[in-house]
Amino acid sequence: MCEKGQTIKMKLIGRMGEPAREVDIDKCIAPIIKALNEGGILTKSSCCGHGGDGYILLQDGRGFLLKPLGEFPMSVIEKFTGVGKSRYAEMMEKEKK
Ligand SMILES: [Zn+2]
Repeated sequence: MCEKGQTIKMKLIGRMGEPAREVDIDKCIAPIIKALNEGGILTKSSCCGHGGDGYILLQDGRGFLLKPLGEFPMSVIEKFTGVGKSRYAEMMEKEKK
């Protein structure tokens, strides 16, 4: 997580018909914002949360909540996604094949 004001200038695609706009993106989530936009998933606004909850709002009205989860806390992931440890291991195993 970065301090408030630690931002990177990025030129992001506007809505249809709007020119690309230069915006300040929180440094620690800039790679995610870049990847989403390069993948055609346009973003409207975002904030890393600076230690608390953050968000990424998409132009289509959906969004991501960013939770400070620490290092791979399965119990928290399970709480928020309903995906349990064994189910997660199963998914990872399937992905390998
Ligand atoms: Zn940050």
